Amino acid sequence: MRLLVVEDEDDLAEGLRVGLTRAGYAVDVAGTSAEASGRLSVNDYDLMLLDLNLPDGDGFELCRALRTGTLRTPGDTEVRVLMLTARGRVDDRVRGLDEGADDYLVKPFALAELLARIRALLRRDTSGSSAVLRIGDLVLDTARHTVTLRAAPLSLTPKEFGVLEYLMLRPGHVVSSEELLEHVWDANADPFTQTVRVTVGTLRRKLGEGSIDTVVSRGYRLVTP
Ligand code: CA
Repeated sequence: MRLLVVEDEDDLAEGLRVGLTRAGYAVDVAGTSAEASGRLSVNDYDLMLLDLNLPDGDGFELCRALRTGTLRTPGDTEVRVLMLTARGRVDDRVRGLDEGADDYLVKPFALAELLARIRALLRRDTSGSSAVLRIGDLVLDTARHTVTLRAAPLSLTPKEFGVLEYLMLRPGHVVSSEELLEHVWDANADPFTQTVRVTVGTLRRKLGEGSIDTVVSRGYRLVTP
């Protein structure tokens, strides 16, 4: 899953980038509203962490632009918005939710709570209502970052985990390499590398041959038993 962190305080932005990357997310950071708009218009993010007080505007405006379609994302996908702010006033919370934020967290907050809220937002609209995804005897725990196959633990790299999570949230669907690159890798990924193909290949070997279909010129599909 790919996240955009919009935060102008460098220390906090860096802390979030490190914490979220460790938790397995692909993370891009924007320090201003203009930079955030630029990134949103070229990348499809699954979720944006949005600080309200930005040097060139406020997060409310960015959120409204996204929700009203003034700011278009490349795939016209709906980006989840989690507002982060020092303002704890009730009217700010109400306004944030009215402008289209999906959730709201007041600073200072614990990273563990932020991660739990992100997981909850990312599994909205998917079949799972718990942190555990299960397809047949393949079980992926998004909170503990563990995967088991036929009850045996499977050791995956962070990118293999990210690809598997993305595929498990879309069982039976064909997902293109571009989509995987977009949602599992960050802005530093070279779009011309073979990194997706290589990662899917190693993941397939760990899950067992036949676990992931390659659909010629369309992408990959997790084979559901
Ligand atoms: Ca700020």
